[in-house]
Order: sequence, then structure tokens, then C-alpha cells
Amino acid sequence: MLRCASVLLKATTLVITSACLNVGHAATIIHAGTLISAESDDVRNEVSVIIEGNKISRIEKGFVAASSDDEVIDLSEYTLMPGLMDMHTHISSQHSGPSSYLEGFVLNEADYAIKGVVYAEKTLNAGFTTVRNLGDGYNETVALRNAINRGQIPGPRLFTAAKSIATTGGHADPTNSHAKIIHRDPGPLRGVINGETEARQAVRQRYKDGADLIKITATGGVLSVAKSGQNPQFMEDELQAIVATAKDYGMTVAVHAHGKEGMRRAILAGVTSIEHGTYMDKEIFKLMKKHGTYYVPTIMAGNWVAEKAKIDGFFPELVRPKAAEIGPLIKQTFADAYKAGVNIAFGTDSGVSAHGDNGLEFVLMVEAGMKPMEAIRSATYHGAKLLNELDRLGTIEAGKLADMVAVKGNPLDDITEMQDIDFVMKDGKVFIHK
Ligand SMILES: [Zn+2]
Repeated sequence: MLRCASVLLKATTLVITSACLNVGHAATIIHAGTLISAESDDVRNEVSVIIEGNKISRIEKGFVAASSDDEVIDLSEYTLMPGLMDMHTHISSQHSGPSSYLEGFVLNEADYAIKGVVYAEKTLNAGFTTVRNLGDGYNETVALRNAINRGQIPGPRLFTAAKSIATTGGHADPTNSHAKIIHRDPGPLRGVINGETEARQAVRQRYKDGADLIKITATGGVLSVAKSGQNPQFMEDELQAIVATAKDYGMTVAVHAHGKEGMRRAILAGVTSIEHGTYMDKEIFKLMKKHGTYYVPTIMAGNWVAEKAKIDGFFPELVRPKAAEIGPLIKQTFADAYKAGVNIAFGTDSGVSAHGDNGLEFVLMVEAGMKPMEAIRSATYHGAKLLNELDRLGTIEAGKLADMVAVKGNPLDDITEMQDIDFVMKDGKVFIHK
């Protein structure tokens, strides 16, 4: 590698460059006791996965012998899986109890950016090699993504929506409940729109800001200091303007929604995923299947707010009843959606609960009736499909990026293994090997 890099530095012609790329690099060979490739439900035993550079070059039966300059990673006692993918995180913040509501007044962009550096590493160490970031305060996750991509800091591949889009007083209006003296209208620049024109402007602004996708808050939510946790907050014309503009810019649209009417409007407008989805029913399941809309359940967030609602003073009084009412319902909604055959991609809403605890969602999904293999595929294959990244990510196949994790033992027998990831490789580099 180094020899090649120094040749590259001096290379002035294409001929030298391409000759350099052909120099035989040493491969990394993983001997996997069990392999869950996640392409299908198949499980294979005693397999070698050969990695060259940042890609999986081939998969062979048995533990193949290495040539002298190859590196062998012995995972013969482990189960190897694709790198995990969490489709709903807020990587630059974390709820810290009652004081969280003060943070908006005392913290600035740099504070959130530094939090993001810490949480990105925790997330990667928990086995999540790819995450969607569905909302930040100041577009700090765009800078975070770029630093991770440059290899300057450890973290998952980040697909970020940057600042979410809401309507005035909506779930992601950053000035909800603030005093008038500091209550400037955030406008489309900070993600608050009213009407089609501003909807288009806000999407284009996010494209300009470097976001990868769009996140909107189509209904009320639990943690915002506002009365309703489920009212529809966008009109049809606004939703259509957002989806059409996002499509022009090659961006998908992720939708926070608890209430049914807001979900119904968003699905009909052609959005990509519904997040939380608390009050979904049979009619919504049918619509989602018809339109190919993904469901990202975030059971962890539901359980977390339900637990914290029991503590006096933890939430503002406007938030507490919403948390107590909505929180406990998500697990059952997930169980019903799974039975109905809705496409499900794994998501935790980490940042509500603590970053690094993401693996708990697997346990909750299995408790609610999902087969362990399907829970794992929701966090690999389906994550990649939702991101339109299935050609590079989501399964262990030749030609894909070398993002892989392993646990000792077999998570199909004991899903709690997913909370203790022993091996993490991202882009062909080992980050954890316990
Ligand atoms: Zn969220």
C-alpha cells in the first residue's frame, strides 16, 4: 500500500497510475464460523470472506489458507453479518433529562458538532456502520459526515437530512414555546415553511446545505413543547411540493408521523418512509404496501418516553401526557405492521435514548414477534434498500463495500447478542476486535 501511494504521488501519467493499481495488494481474509450474508434467510457455516482494499472481493467455502502477506482475521467462533444500519438517529444530540430544554438557549453549532463526534464513535463501536441522521439544529451533521468520509474521525457512513422541515408551530419548529424576545421566525432557511413556495425553497436550501435526504414532521410529536402529538401539520399541496422538489434533486423524504391523517396525506404524496407511525391502522398498512412506503418503527424511543413520563418533572407539563399516551403504543403498532407485511427498516431514534444503545431495538422487535433473521435483515438489507444503496451496502456479497460486524455465538438463538458487538469493520478497516 505505502509503496503504491508513493508511486502515485510521483505519477504524472495515467500509465503509471494504472500500473500501480495492478500491484498485488495483500488481502484480508476473515474466517467466519457462521455467515449471515443477509441477501436471503440463508445461514452458512465455515466460510472465508476475502477483502481487498475497501471491498469484498469474494466469498469461499471453508477456511482458505492465506499467502504470506495476507492478513487472517479469525472469527471462527463468531457470526459475521453485514454492518448494521440504523435509519433513524439524531447523531449530534442526546436527551439529557429536564436540562435538555435549556440546551437550545445556551448551546451553539460548535457544541452540537463536538457532541456529534463523540456520538458517531459510540454508534460505530455498537456495530452501526451506516446511519440516517433525521434532523439536527444547524446542519452540523453535514460537516460531521464530511469529516467521517475523509477518515478524520471514526463514525458510521452518515446520510443526513440536516435540519428537519416543519410548519409554523410544528414538531420541528425550533422556536416552539420560546419567549417573544428571542422568537424570530425561523423561515425556510431553518426549516419552517408555510405554503408550496416555501416548501420548495426549504428543500432546495437543504440541497444547497449539503443534505442527503429530506426529513419532515408531518404530525405533532412527543418531545416538542406543543399541545398535540398527532395532528396533521402539512397540507397536501405542501407535501406534494416537498416530494416533487426532493425528487428533482435526487433526495428521498423521511416523515415523522404519529397521527393517521398526517401519515395518510404523506403516503399519498409519495414519501419514502414513515417514522414512528404510532396510530397506523389497516387502512394505512394497505396504503404503505401499495405505495412501497417503508416503516421505521423506533420502538426504543416509544419505550423511553413512556418510562420517563412516570418521573415527576422530567418533561415539561405539555410534553408529559403526550409521552405517556403515545410512547407505550409503538411496540404494538410495529407488531401489527409486521404481521400485515409492511416493509420495515430498523431505526431507533437514538438521541432520544442514548447513542450506542441502538442494539436494544433488535430485542424489542423480536419480543414483538419478528423473527431474529428478519430483524437483522431490517438493519442490513432493508436499510440499504431504503437508502437506495443496495449496490454498495446491506449484504455480504462480492463487490460490496467491506462493512461487517460479528458477535460471539449466534444471534439467531439469542438476539441480545446484538447489544454486544465484538467485531466492527467499516470500509475494510477494523475498528473493534474484542
Ligand atoms: Zn427522531
